[in-house]
Amino acid sequence: MPETVPYPEKLKDPRWQRVKCQVLMRDDFTCRSCGCTTRTLHVHHRWYGDGLEPWLYPLDALVTLCDQCHSFEEVAEPMGRNSDFWPLIRMSDGTFRKGPKAEIVGRWA
Ligand SMILES: [Zn+2]
Repeated sequence: MPETVPYPEKLKDPRWQRVKCQVLMRDDFTCRSCGCTTRTLHVHHRWYGDGLEPWLYPLDALVTLCDQCHSFEEVAEPMGRNSDFWPLIRMSDGTFRKGPKAEIVGRWA
């Protein structure tokens, strides 16, 4: 069945809201990259499975990042960044590679 819901809309799904809340509480509402507790926090996917709904990932695939660190994740510029937090993209052959989120969002758009 073709996917018709845009990715940003999926992040409004209550199933994602519930998972996001669990991750924020696990990480004590603290950015896992820089330790910030005062900027807006995001729950970031550390890897992406092709076509996998955002809320179906295991909790260890998700990490709390602040606004600043999360925006670093969204651009294709790894220099000087904490590469531990670059998203891994699961390829169709089952291997993983790191890459910017923009490469995979299109599959869900
Ligand atoms: Zn941060």
